[in-house]
Amino acid sequence: MAEAIRQQTYTIYPIVQPGIYPTLRTINFYLIKRPEGMVLIDAGIDTYDCMERLQDTLKQAGAEIGDLDAILLTHHHEDHAGLVPRVLEKKAVPIYAHRDAVPRLRLDKDFLEMRLAFFRRLYREMGGGNMGAERFARLEQTIRETPQHAIMADINEIGEGDRVFGFEVVETPGHSPDSITFLDADGRTAFTGDVLIEGSSVNAIIDPAPNGSRLPSVSQQRRSLERLAGLGADVLYTGHHEPVRNTKDLVRERISRMDRKCEKLLSLIRSGVTVPAQITEVYYRDLYRTQFPLVMSEIIGHLDYLEEQGKVTKSMAEEVWHYHPA
Ligand SMILES: [Zn+2]
Repeated sequence: MAEAIRQQTYTIYPIVQPGIYPTLRTINFYLIKRPEGMVLIDAGIDTYDCMERLQDTLKQAGAEIGDLDAILLTHHHEDHAGLVPRVLEKKAVPIYAHRDAVPRLRLDKDFLEMRLAFFRRLYREMGGGNMGAERFARLEQTIRETPQHAIMADINEIGEGDRVFGFEVVETPGHSPDSITFLDADGRTAFTGDVLIEGSSVNAIIDPAPNGSRLPSVSQQRRSLERLAGLGADVLYTGHHEPVRNTKDLVRERISRMDRKCEKLLSLIRSGVTVPAQITEVYYRDLYRTQFPLVMSEIIGHLDYLEEQGKVTKSMAEEVWHYHPA
């Protein structure tokens, strides 16, 4: 069990679950015991093992599930909201999350249909061809057939500047549209979910806004990284791996990595590879086949960023986008 961390006015009990993804060693969430209430920041993955770990940690804090006052979510991903349904079975704990997390947590039907239509069109217009159609079919099957728990508890929508249980909410989108950070400015400590992770690059994942438009994930992610660097926090407690203590250096490294990626994409475009799916295949080789949604998302996000910066333009030919040097 991880050791408790005493802050001036409260205690942090980290809960560290071994990772389920090849590139992530741990899944972290946090039990916080403070005068304002006993809360969870994030809720791990939906496994028996993870639930045991939560219960052991509650015991370590001299508490049980019934003592929880709230669950605060940094974002809706399954490795952050996983245990919510299991906790709710035992106690109707209020959930606090960004407004864009709500339809995703509720598995809102209209929202899921909108999201499917978004990806069908995206893969086609980005030149995904047969590969895109096949991957879309897989996505559709997953969404329609995988049994998932919709979270139907009270979800309190929170956003920039709100205060919850002594933490200030800072919006840090990019990794997901609903990513938020919980800041304890006095304690120079923040809980940042997946915006910045030690030893693993974070993908800014393409996703639609509620109105169906594509969010500028890479520029959002860059802004969010800069915000983390400017929070004045000495420690970031993250959703995976060790806490981040060298935030400014790590942010600088991540942003220059994005810049290098942009430069490589620009030179590919200048060399005549103009269709996003082709750019992705040349850039990522085998990963194009094995990690299609993720690598397409990376390239599209960076192309959007280059377009926003005035470095590329795009035109449509036979329903497929082509990118050109500006
Ligand atoms: Zn995530």
